[in-house]
Amino acid sequence: MTSDPHSVGAKDGPLGFTQHDHDACVSATIEAAETRCAADGLRLTPVRRKVLEILLKEHRALGAYAILDQLRDDGFGSQPPIAYRALDFLVANGLAHKIERLNAFIACAHPSHTHTPAFMICRLCDTVAETQSSPARGALGDAARAMGFRIERTVVEAEGVCPSCISKAEA
Ligand SMILES: [Zn+2]
Ligand SMILES: [Zn+2]
Ligand SMILES: [Zn+2]
Repeated sequence: MTSDPHSVGAKDGPLGFTQHDHDACVSATIEAAETRCAADGLRLTPVRRKVLEILLKEHRALGAYAILDQLRDDGFGSQPPIAYRALDFLVANGLAHKIERLNAFIACAHPSHTHTPAFMICRLCDTVAETQSSPARGALGDAARAMGFRIERTVVEAEGVCPSCISKAEA
């Protein structure tokens, strides 16, 4: 399907760093989240959906308090547990991920299937792009196998400079 913004992102590079139809990107991701929740019997309550929408506004990681500010502005109240409970739900169900390095959250770019995310974080504009990693492969997987260690979870967060910040710096 050529109109799927995620397939464009997958072809041209991680979604957060590429020019794309962001409105289509937001609605496709919300739709995929709704489909996932319906299939798995999960309830995408108004506040959970709102937090996902807030996370989807920009391809940037947001801290819980920034999310709470927007929830309050949108009339969802201002108690921190409201934001934390919604974030717990989204993260536990793979609809959002926590960026440990930033202590912040980002909407998942591929909510329709389970995967091990890997993140590229621009240190100049804070844009975060999500790609996928295969923890059992590569040098780490080889080292783990050599030691008889079974990897269950890895955190891959690369920090650097995104394409638009590189081109701005060069201009
Ligand atoms: Zn987008
Ligand atoms: Zn993801
Ligand atoms: Zn940047």
